[in-house]
Amino acid sequence: MQSESAAEQTQPAAARETRGFQAEVRQLLQLMIHSLYSHREIFLRELISNASDACDRVRFAAIADSALLQDDPELGIRIDADPTAGTVTITDNGIGMTREEAVANLGTIARSGTAEAFRALSGDDQKASQLIGQFGVGFYSAFIVADRVEVRSRKAGAPPQAGVHWESGADGEFTVETVLQAARGTSVTLHLKEDAREFADAFRLRGLIRRYSDHIGFPVRMRKEGEASLEYEPVNQAKALWTLPRSEIPAEEYKRFYEYLAHDSTEPLAWSHNKVEGKREYTSLLYLPGRAPFDLWQREAARGLKLYVRRVFIMDDAEQFLPLYLRFIKGVVDSSDLPLNVSREILQQEPEVEAIRNGLTKRALDLIARLAKDEPEKYATFWREFGAVLKEGVAQDPANHPALLPLLRFSSTHLADDTASASLADYVARLQPGQQKIYYVIAESLAAARGSPAIEKLRERGIEVLLLAERVDSWAMGQLTEYEGRQFKDASRGELELGALASAADRQQHDADLKESKGLLKRIKDALGERVTQVSVSERLRESPACLVLGEHDLPEQLRRILVAAGQKAPDSKPLLEVNVSHPLVKYLDGIAAGDQFNELAQLLFEQAGLAEGNPLPNPPDYVQRLNRLLVRLAAGEGAAAPAGDSSTAAPGVGRQA
Ligand code: ADP
Repeated sequence: MQSESAAEQTQPAAARETRGFQAEVRQLLQLMIHSLYSHREIFLRELISNASDACDRVRFAAIADSALLQDDPELGIRIDADPTAGTVTITDNGIGMTREEAVANLGTIARSGTAEAFRALSGDDQKASQLIGQFGVGFYSAFIVADRVEVRSRKAGAPPQAGVHWESGADGEFTVETVLQAARGTSVTLHLKEDAREFADAFRLRGLIRRYSDHIGFPVRMRKEGEASLEYEPVNQAKALWTLPRSEIPAEEYKRFYEYLAHDSTEPLAWSHNKVEGKREYTSLLYLPGRAPFDLWQREAARGLKLYVRRVFIMDDAEQFLPLYLRFIKGVVDSSDLPLNVSREILQQEPEVEAIRNGLTKRALDLIARLAKDEPEKYATFWREFGAVLKEGVAQDPANHPALLPLLRFSSTHLADDTASASLADYVARLQPGQQKIYYVIAESLAAARGSPAIEKLRERGIEVLLLAERVDSWAMGQLTEYEGRQFKDASRGELELGALASAADRQQHDADLKESKGLLKRIKDALGERVTQVSVSERLRESPACLVLGEHDLPEQLRRILVAAGQKAPDSKPLLEVNVSHPLVKYLDGIAAGDQFNELAQLLFEQAGLAEGNPLPNPPDYVQRLNRLLVRLAAGEGAAAPAGDSSTAAPGVGRQA
């Protein structure tokens, strides 16, 4: 690397200008400066990581244009500290920046909402400092320790007179000017705040480099210790970890590499390091993070693996190597077969990529299965953080159902709390004699699922019901057909299909109820009209007077609401109303003749059944007025049976109309 002092590099100004930071950046800087007091050392990790990216990028660009590297071929990073001046300088001979790039890259944040998301973390120093890199705002972390930052840069391939000098005191503005800069690449000089002078100490810096940057692929050099010599020596190992044999890598190193790779200091739950040889050759190192990233659910969030071809870094976030439902996996894939000039577009069509993707999907699912089997506690963490994402796989990847189904975990009526810890194997082991189906119910919340009228009878019989309440559930469960020969059954739709679980006496009773209530059912249907497809006697209910049931092929209510919320058209599925003929309210209803009061009660019965499912009322004022009329009559001591001005209505229990 070439070396020059700052004074030599900055020539008299060529078009010096002062610009304001984008508002988003200003907010972010304020947050960084005023809310991060602990873990301040992470600035070094972030700046070294940027320098390493810059080296990766120039190496990649040199594949097409080898002249880019010619003048200074050995890529690396250098750290200089000056305790007297209170400065630290991070220099790389990477890709560099033009003046325009410096303005754009160091003055704006590409993704809006970043400062917002970051603000949500302030107050939690540790979390915020861990996440800076994930937000893609690492450069600004310089201002945690510095009150003034200078950047000098020259883009690879540009002439020395096209260098740029950028400087800011984090006061909302920065200046840029065009300068003479002999060396290719970038140097970032931090003028340390009074209380951050410790970071100008060489010993401290060496420790931090080893801690945070041991496994970046380029040497990070510092002046030799204890001498006035100008010689530099490498401080880190600078070996691409995945290229080493597994047996030579202690767990601690794997963890550190993860920290560097994922910008995440939470320990990974597990990892899998493999070399595939033969017809196709590639090495992969996949990690299961210990915690979901803040943008796991953002559609445009970066995801995917770091791609290398024969150890040359090609790109970050290569999303073609894993399916979307495994987007939480972090790692590296290094292929020996792909061309070095591979682009994102080519990746999409390359059959080689498809083959690697299938291989990596299997590896990832194996890794998750191994965690489930060997470390149930860690698996519980995994499921809490990523279970809902993995469920997308059930919907998207039927070919991998045999691997995916055993990984699923559920809340259940057989578990005391709502923790999702029941596997399908657990469920099958608890089947009642004669039980053919795996019952589940989906609601707006787990509490609503647990209390769902649709499962009252099943609960009473001790038949286990899986409880679901995540957005993805309707979609995922709809794709499940069977597990070990047992079909899945949504307990709130269609017939309950008790099969051998219902005794002969049950069936007789049901038939008798149906026959006896025919008139009542017809009157309720007449009162509700088009609001329901049918009114029937329920097999499901125990405590509740009524419940709504959708047909087997109707769009589930939860899914319908998600579609509507997303602005899509969704067919209205009309429910069937099931009534519990043993319930006092239904018995009471049976005792009054068709008429206003009957209608009013029937509507209430219907609307409350919807409410119990968490459905919004189509017309809340209407419902409230209905209920109030009833309450007023109660308060007036008239009894609900005698609506004002309707003396013709029969008293309760009088006459059963057919
Ligand atoms: P990120 O690196 O996640 O994109 P940063 O805030 O750390 O976010 O950096 C913003 C941008 O500035 C980078 O994407 C890169 O284009 C540019 N940059 C930062 N440091 C360097 C460097 N040492 N060499 C070249 N470009 C750099």
